Amino acid sequence: MEINHSRLLQSLHINVCAVNKSLKTVYTNHCGEIGEDIVEPQLKRAIELSFREKNSFENVEISSHRDAAGSALIPMHGLANGRYVEIDGEPLVTVSIIDISELYLQLSDLRRALEKSRKDASRKSTALQDISHELKSPLNAVSGFARLLMETDDKDKQQKYVKVIETNAELIMSLANDVLDMARADSGNLSYDYRTIDLNAFMKSITDMAEMHVSSDTIVNCVLGSRSIYLHTAPERLGQVMQNLLNNAIKYTAKGNITAGYEVRDDEIYFFVKDSGIGIPASKIKHVFERYWRDRKDEMGTGLGLPICKEIIEHLGGEIGVESAGENKGCNFWFTLPLKIESTDTQDDNPRQKDLPECKEMPDDNLPVILIAEDNEGNYMLYEALFEDIFKPIHAWNGIEAVELAKKFNPALILMDISMPLKDGYEATREIREAGMDMPIIAVTAYAFSSDKEKIMQHGFDAYISKPINADELIAAMEKCMNGEPCK
Ligand code: ATP
Ligand code: MG
Repeated sequence: MEINHSRLLQSLHINVCAVNKSLKTVYTNHCGEIGEDIVEPQLKRAIELSFREKNSFENVEISSHRDAAGSALIPMHGLANGRYVEIDGEPLVTVSIIDISELYLQLSDLRRALEKSRKDASRKSTALQDISHELKSPLNAVSGFARLLMETDDKDKQQKYVKVIETNAELIMSLANDVLDMARADSGNLSYDYRTIDLNAFMKSITDMAEMHVSSDTIVNCVLGSRSIYLHTAPERLGQVMQNLLNNAIKYTAKGNITAGYEVRDDEIYFFVKDSGIGIPASKIKHVFERYWRDRKDEMGTGLGLPICKEIIEHLGGEIGVESAGENKGCNFWFTLPLKIESTDTQDDNPRQKDLPECKEMPDDNLPVILIAEDNEGNYMLYEALFEDIFKPIHAWNGIEAVELAKKFNPALILMDISMPLKDGYEATREIREAGMDMPIIAVTAYAFSSDKEKIMQHGFDAYISKPINADELIAAMEKCMNGEPCK
């Protein structure tokens, strides 16, 4: 078969041309693409060198080519290869140019992604350093004061040391919770349990709590709606956001006013936490919702509080933001939630308060017997101390003992650790239920994800509490369970 070389060359996606010693193009397969003159300086130099040395060149980068008419220059990314040849006695350099514009763009994207992931990785490692630093100081305090506590018999000192240990343990717990929440949010595992709440009562209880933590130089005000709103939302998460904002306001307002509240606007509720504290400089305000970003390293914290708030509010369908008039001019942190009112109530008193179980005074000699299945001695000692004068605890060291003691004592309630030797909490609970006993059983677990919670709730437990335990929460859940109320 006779092949028409000229048509074959024209069909190629590569631009092929031949250039003579005066750098004029004497042949090109795509008409006009190279044009008469070689304009790219690097290519010019490479061709001249090729003529001089009678050799070839490779991968010279070019950044423009001529349009089809051969007149205008169009930007492109290309690679040129050339070779010195003599055709019919005339010295020429043949040049081929491949268009790599597309590849170049992809490479640029890749480079940018690489740069970003480098930055993220370095931010993460700084964050890890921050976290371990933040952990070390309270851990030191806990271990140091625990030792001092053992060495002193002075009651006042003991009380003081215990207070320090408690404060620092709370700090460690809140840091662990923040890191965990961020990880949960990233993997879509942050749980949102929806309930209808009385918003006035809810806000009041949160600001009351904040009030307990402020110095005497700061005043906390609460602005509520004149009518109680019953809002369908995820109260635990909403509380977390309010608490974070209030904690910040308290932390960054040594002296002054903090006002928290909400306002109903057209189809949304506008919440705010305003303070008269150190404020945020205009140049820094854009960073406050970034992970691990902190302006004041002298204050405790990891810079996860606000990013978690943002995550939660956006999940709930709202927006979050901040305004600050500048340094020492205070801040107004605000967020919105779509308005989903269940009903309104003009009553002045708080209906939720009425629903709360009354705390019964129980005579010492008639304390309810509770069974605690727990393989860690320290944890059991903690329960013993917590339940002194409220319950009469009996101790099972493992799942087998738990089943035996449950049958023997028929306790009013069982606290069941999930991971125990010999028989785990799931198995022990199953056997207790199979034996026909229906006392409330609360799972106590270090597992932290909602899938674990689901598994627990499907295995015959009445409620679940996660470690590290919050004493008030635990006792409240136990009392509810024992009163036959839902205690999930
Ligand atoms: P934590 O993770 O314990 O909450 P943090 O409070 O430092 O630590 P964020 O709550 O995310 O972290 O806040 C980030 C930063 O924003 C703070 O370090 C502080 O510089 C600034 N900031 C937040 N709230 C206020 C406020 N009310 N007044 C002034 N600056 C604030
Ligand atoms: Mg904070």
